[in-house]
Amino acid sequence: MESMAVLLLHPVDKYLEQELDRRFRLLRLVDVPPDGHADFLRAHAASVRAVVTSCGSGCDAAPIDQLQRLQIVACYSVGYDLLDLDRCRHRGVRVTNTPGVLTDDVADLAVGLAIAALRRIPNADHYVRNGRWKANGHYALTTRFSGKRVGIIGLGRIGLAIAKRVEAFGCPVSYYQRTRQAYYPTYTYLRTVVDLAANSDVLVVACALNEQSRGIVSREVMEALGPGGVLVNVGRGAHVDEPELVAALSEGRLGGAGLDVFDDEPDVPEALMALHNVVLSPHVGSGTWETRKAMADLVVANLEVHALNKPLLTPVV
Ligand code: NAP
Repeated sequence: MESMAVLLLHPVDKYLEQELDRRFRLLRLVDVPPDGHADFLRAHAASVRAVVTSCGSGCDAAPIDQLQRLQIVACYSVGYDLLDLDRCRHRGVRVTNTPGVLTDDVADLAVGLAIAALRRIPNADHYVRNGRWKANGHYALTTRFSGKRVGIIGLGRIGLAIAKRVEAFGCPVSYYQRTRQAYYPTYTYLRTVVDLAANSDVLVVACALNEQSRGIVSREVMEALGPGGVLVNVGRGAHVDEPELVAALSEGRLGGAGLDVFDDEPDVPEALMALHNVVLSPHVGSGTWETRKAMADLVVANLEVHALNKPLLTPVV
């Protein structure tokens, strides 16, 4: 059987690239300079049946339209906010993502960021490394995490995994999302994000990015969270009004933040880097060997069942 031609749009982890190369006829747009993309797509338009993309880069309408034989876009992430789903639907192109296999790691990181921000772990580490412990004595007191009220925007797979983890720290959990879930009786549903923030010490963003959730953490939400509150974002940068966040943190109107995602990655506002009440990580929620391998295997498995005309394992479209 002729091997399916798969186009890699953007850089991905080495293991996924190797597995794609081993199983399919892999074409790498990723190796072509940007001014050669149109020619490359034209040259392979009649053969490419699948595209692999990732969360930071997505897939806009151009390749979907130009690749006449395109049948499937496999996304190496659970979020598909940068993928033109309408275009895929319109063209009859299937879409898959990688839900579930990354849930635990993203939830672990969210809890880690909350604790790191409240206990100022990165600053404490610098304090020891820079010899300030020896020179200046005891480190300043910080704020406890156990028992804090945790509000979660988006009690989906990742949000629920965060809720279960923080329950073990004795934290009462509230949540907001578009649909109230009757099957989470131990978690309190609040009807607006402002209400959720007003009733939380730690507000965690774990929802999908869409038109209703873009900028969902507004100035009003930050004011409701207040000077004692901490914002944790493991969703997407665009969930938060970033200039307002920088202002609120700098002016002490918001207590702290733990951020894995940013508006214009990898560009992070300089002002955030100077703040001691902020912990930053470079979009690494799913970034462990174990999870990235599981995600890669799921991308490949979806492409393989598609090539065999079998049902997709994790379809979006
Ligand atoms: P999921 O199971 O589909 O859950 C998504 C949740 O978001 C649902 O509870 C959904 O509830 C809620 N939601 C969707 N639109 C909303 C809106 N407009 N307002 C409020 N809540 C909304 O997805 P998941 O697997 O938990 O992943 C969630 C997100 O995490 C992904 O979409 C991705 O952006 C992010 N993520 C980040 C990393 C990282 O490395 N930092 C890694 C993986 C995923 P309703 O539909 O009822 O509103």
